Amino acid sequence: MHKLRKGEKKRIASKKINYLFKLALKTHDKSLAINAIKTAKKLSTKFRVQISKNLKRKYCKHCHIVFNSANNVRVRIKKNLVEYCCLNCNKRSRFPFTKERLIKSQ
Ligand SMILES: [Zn+2]
Repeated sequence: MHKLRKGEKKRIASKKINYLFKLALKTHDKSLAINAIKTAKKLSTKFRVQISKNLKRKYCKHCHIVFNSANNVRVRIKKNLVEYCCLNCNKRSRFPFTKERLIKSQ
């Protein structure tokens, strides 16, 4: 077996991360989605692959639950931040507002 180069490993890891996120967003199985996101996060730290900005907003970074528009998340707009309040663990994640506006207009 030949050794994989560093860049190659990263490429494979980021592919896997994208796949895991797709799975998590699609599935109706809650624990599967949470596990997929946990694994994706582990991969991203291990191989130092960034999770893209719009994927980061799709789950709670505290309890790893997938946000589905109105059921388990409350979105509030503050001065120049968007605050996602997870209704599962009651913790908040904040994101800068300008980027949020860009994503919505897409
Ligand atoms: Zn949460």
